[in-house]
This record gives sequence, C-alpha cells and structure tokens, in this order.
Amino acid sequence: MINEQRITELLEKCKPDKVRIKDIVQKSIEKRRLSLEETAALLNVKDEATLKELFSAANTVKEEIYGNRLVIFAPLYVSNLCQNECLYCAFRQSNKDIKRAVLSQEEIKKETESILKTGQKRILLVAGETYPKEGLQYIYDSIKTVYSARDGVNNIRRLNVNLAPLSTVEFKNLKKTGIGTYQLFQETYHLETYKNMHPAGPKSDYLNRLSAIDRAFEAGIDDVGIGALFGLYDFRFEILALMMHIEYLEKKFGMGPHTISVPRLEPATNSAVAKNPPFPVSDLEFQQIIAVLRLSVPYTGIILSTRENAAMRRAALSLGVSQISAGSRTNPGGYAEGRNEHDGQFSLGDHRSLDEVIHDICQQGHIPSFCTSCYRLGRTGLDFMELAKPGQIKNKCLPNALLTFKEYLVDYASPKVKEIGEKLIQKEINAIPQAKTKEFTKESLVKIANGKRDIYC
Ligand code: SAM
Ligand code: SF4
Repeated sequence: MINEQRITELLEKCKPDKVRIKDIVQKSIEKRRLSLEETAALLNVKDEATLKELFSAANTVKEEIYGNRLVIFAPLYVSNLCQNECLYCAFRQSNKDIKRAVLSQEEIKKETESILKTGQKRILLVAGETYPKEGLQYIYDSIKTVYSARDGVNNIRRLNVNLAPLSTVEFKNLKKTGIGTYQLFQETYHLETYKNMHPAGPKSDYLNRLSAIDRAFEAGIDDVGIGALFGLYDFRFEILALMMHIEYLEKKFGMGPHTISVPRLEPATNSAVAKNPPFPVSDLEFQQIIAVLRLSVPYTGIILSTRENAAMRRAALSLGVSQISAGSRTNPGGYAEGRNEHDGQFSLGDHRSLDEVIHDICQQGHIPSFCTSCYRLGRTGLDFMELAKPGQIKNKCLPNALLTFKEYLVDYASPKVKEIGEKLIQKEINAIPQAKTKEFTKESLVKIANGKRDIYC
C-alpha cells in the first residue's frame, strides 16, 4: 500500500517547472483528482510566487465544490487512560504528570449538555487506548449517552469517533451505535519513524494501524477519515503516502476517505518530541499542505482543529479547509469544568469560544454550518461523492448550512453574532441555484424563527 522507495523517487523526479504546474492546477480546477506524479510536483514548489498561485487555485476549487460553508464540531474526550507510549502525546502511559480521568456515563451526559449549551450539534468522541473494565462496551455506552443528552429540544445529531484500530467485528458493533465518521490518523506513514515514535503498546504495530481503515470499510462503515501528524517526518513524504493510501482504498473499495485531517504537532506535557518536532512544519509549509491536498483530492473534506491559532485558521479557510473544531477542550471533563488544563492532550492554539470563532468566520464571509443532513439521509460513502459533483452541493450544503446557522442564531448566538449572521443569511440565500430550493430555504427560515427545529434537505 505504501511504497517508500516510490515516494522518494517521485519527489526526486517530479520537478515543479512553471508550465507543468499551470497544467496541473488547471486539471484540479476542472475538479479532476491528481496523480501521484502531479501531487509530487506541487509538493516540490518552493518559491513564494508559485506557492501563491497554488493557494489561489486551491481557493477556487474550494469555492466551486464546497462554496463558502464551513462545518463546525467539538471534540469530546471521554478518557485519557492509555497503554501506548506515543512519544508526542501527553496521554502516553508513562507520563505521570497529568491527571487521569475516565468519565462516567453521568459525566459524559453533563459534558455533552455543556457542549450543547454552546450551540454545537456535532461531536467528535476521542479516547486513549485503555478502556475501563467493560472494554469497548464503555465506548458504545458513551455514544448512546451523547446521543441521549438534551439542551431543551436540541441534541447532538452526529457523533464521529477518533479511536484506536478495532477488529472487523468490533467495527460492526461500532457501526450499530450510529456513528458518523470513523477517524484514524496513521501519524506517520514512514515505517522507521513510526517505530521510533511508538516504542510500546498495541499502537507499535504499524500494519495493524494501516489496515484498520480496510476493516472499517469491510464492517460497513463507509464514512472514514484519515490523516497524518505533521512534524514527525517530511511533510512531502506524508502527503504522497496519504495519496497512496487513498489510491489503494479507491481501488479496493471503490471509494476513498470522506475526510483528511491535518494535525500539526503541538507541545504536550513532558514530551520532548512535541516541543521540538523532528521535522518542524513552518506556517507557509502548513498552508502548502492544505492547498496541495485540496488540489489533489478536490472532493475530500479537510479538517482543521484548534491545535492551530486563530491567524492560521483564518488563512486555512480560504485554502480549502471544509470543517473546523471550535471552542474545544482536550481534557476529559473540560467543558463542564470550563477549562483546558495541562491534563489536556496537547496545547490549544485557539482558545476562543464557539461564538467568537463564529463571529470571525462570518466576518470572513464564510457560513458556519452545523449540518448533519447527509448522514441522516443516508447520503454517505459513494452516495455523498455523487452529490459532491459541481452544483449539487450548493443545492444541499448551502441551504442546510443556512438553516442550521439560523438555529444557532435564534438559540445561542450573542447579539453581535446575531447581527452579522442575519445579514449573511439574507445575502447567501440568493446564491442557492435552484428556485425551488431557494423557496424551501426561505420558508424554513421563517419556521425556525417561529420555533421549529431540525429542518433539512
Ligand atoms: N488514542 C487514539 C489514537 O491514538 O489513535 C485516538 C485518540 S488520539 C487522542 C487522537 C490524535 O491526537 C492522534 O491520532 C494524534 O494524531 C493526535 N495527537 C497526539 N499528540 C499530539 C500532539 N502533541 N499534538 C498534536 N496532535 C497530537
Ligand atoms: Fe494514547 Fe492516542 Fe495519545 Fe498515543 S496518541 S498516547 S494512543 S491517546
């Protein structure tokens, strides 16, 4: 699946000459997926002028496919117990300097209620790789608890998970709980680096991790997310390896991942690796990572977390990021307690509240979306990819973004956000191409103002 020698050869061979880069960018603007050779050439671009061209092309592709809506979610850390020794993570077993916690179902309910009260509708459930005595049943129960929590009439409508690799049978059980996306990052695709970074615990098995997405697909989970932890090894290598992983999945299962995440190494308690990344990624290189991904796989969502600071997150939006977390806490119980202490998994770059992030997003002309429509209408896997064809998304994502944003404005927004948000909605209604959908959206907005909730198309 991952041919290291081929990656090295591609990076040596595929030079970024100007004419070739123009052709590649053109192909991407036509929304065709790039070959490994083409991605390698984009990764080899180093001069700022050509990088700027890539950034602007990535923006064009993003606008064409996703429009200006941006999906928002919050992570929910249920446990920081872990039997692994990932050198970059504060949760690793040998780290004695963080407070360990496994939330009870009651605490998970409270935590979810605290998240709901900020206005979120989508959660990413995260845990270390040691489960309490009930084993994975703890996770299945936690998912049930999250879905059962309420703030008035509002509830979590989609829960994604970021969990250690499971067996096919366990994936089947996980699917039954009603998850959205199963997310798993390979961290580094470079075998030797992987071995060095994961000296002990089940995670030290590189192939078990690499094959986990296959097992998830085989178990019927057709919405998966992959990613690499940038800073552990050469980012150019990691991107090509991600592309190889995608090509492999597409060939075997007829579809690739729904999303790619781009975590960049952040400081973590007692981690020398996290403090001094072996392959630090500069801000400009990080923007290149996002732009090259957007150009290489136009239809795949890109997720950016609160590891990044507000300025980088602003820059990233125009490069093709389609989902962001906001108002996050990475310590179990952090929402109910109202703090992200050093028992969090890593340092946050963005400490702003959801409302502040939303204000910023609106100011940039993007529409915050809490939409969960595709998942609930069964538009997942291949069905989603079909929909992601030009024009279609704007007839679904945009109206659903406006409707869920309107709910946020009515139920949770500060006066400042209400003002800017209402103006944005009025402006954006006109961008809905189909007259029938436009009418449906206008009528639904009135219904939401009058108390109706959860309208989607
Ligand atoms: N324990 C499971 C695992 O490792 O797959 C799932 C949850 S783990 C808490 C989620 C992700 O956090 C990891 O896959 C890793 O990429 C990321 N992470 C760990 N330490 C980090 C750090 N110091 N900075 C940024 N991201 C980090
Ligand atoms: Fe455990 Fe995941 Fe952290 Fe590794 S990254 S120590 S597996 S929580």
